[in-house]
Amino acid sequence: TWVLGIETSCDETSAAVVGDGRVIASSVISSQIAVHRRFGGVVPEVASRQHLDRITFVVDEALKEAGLGFSSISCLAVTVGPGLIGALLVGVAAAKAYSYALKIPLVPVHHLEAHLYANFLAHPELEPPFVCLVVSGGHTSLILLQDHLKYRLLGATRDDAAGEAFDKIARVLGLPYPGGPALEELAAAGDPCAIPFPRAWLEEGSTDFSFSGLKTAVINYLNRLREEGTSPYLPDVAASFQAAIVDVLVEKALLAAKKAGVGKVALAGGVASNSTLRRHFEKRAAEEGLDFYFPEKRLCTDNAAMVACAGYYHYLAGHRASLSQEAFAHYPLVPCE
Ligand code: ATP
Ligand code: MG
Ligand code: FE
Repeated sequence: TWVLGIETSCDETSAAVVGDGRVIASSVISSQIAVHRRFGGVVPEVASRQHLDRITFVVDEALKEAGLGFSSISCLAVTVGPGLIGALLVGVAAAKAYSYALKIPLVPVHHLEAHLYANFLAHPELEPPFVCLVVSGGHTSLILLQDHLKYRLLGATRDDAAGEAFDKIARVLGLPYPGGPALEELAAAGDPCAIPFPRAWLEEGSTDFSFSGLKTAVINYLNRLREEGTSPYLPDVAASFQAAIVDVLVEKALLAAKKAGVGKVALAGGVASNSTLRRHFEKRAAEEGLDFYFPEKRLCTDNAAMVACAGYYHYLAGHRASLSQEAFAHYPLVPCE
């Protein structure tokens, strides 16, 4: 069963063909990073127009790369939310048009569930249940996948998302957009123990997150040095900030897995491409006797292969989008209770 996925929730225009939810036949990602960089972040209206310019070409390329025609596609899958509304609408409108014109069923996919499902592409043998830490530009969520498409939210951020914190601190450090990868590069030359930035553990046993205090601590640290007339060693600031985030992310994910009574933990979302996070998580999971799964980096940031993967399970479950399918800027992942 071949599923064609479409993803346009933020600044990547992407289409991919996936076989039986596990095998990537093609994955085409047209990134708008170069377009948005001069504005220092994603400009929503510009993103929508870029998606509109690129979407049909990207879909054609995905089919060409897979060596398949539309007649081989059993199902279309599209991200319907959450994300930038104008950006989402381009993908949803395109998917509905293909579905109607070609008489191919369409299924709606949640962007976070797609990030989580990237793990099934990277590990074809993986099966639920497991706990997944989804860390991206807009989310920091601990999700228990009880069975396919059955989610329970175990924890979430009370303020900034992890990726958002990376992007904001990167900007303070004078790094270009997108901040996460640039900050990771700077941190590689620094000492993660140089500055003891705070870890927000919150209440005893909490699996929620908060990163606004850490963000303030970094800014205060830089301001204090500036007032004293000394200049900070930026690689140390970057490395110490990164260590503070990674510490909390990993320990809370392990705690959530223990509380849920599962032996498997997974990582997903754009921040999951951070090497320090991957290495530290791998080490700590092994120490705690948990199996640890993570997707390759190209499957962590936004892509349509993960959408097609999740879409396959919706297709099997008989879910279908109608031609009145809408896009949603805010869109909670429906709990299974
Ligand atoms: P969401 O998935 O919540 O809707 P999004 O789709 O914009 O948000 P993703 O594309 O999943 O987010 O991830 C982008 C985020 O990941 C950005 O905040 C970016 O800075 C961060 N990121 C990417 N690579 C790294 C890295 N190596 N280290 C840290 N952060 C990173
Ligand atoms: Mg992006
Ligand atoms: Fe994303």
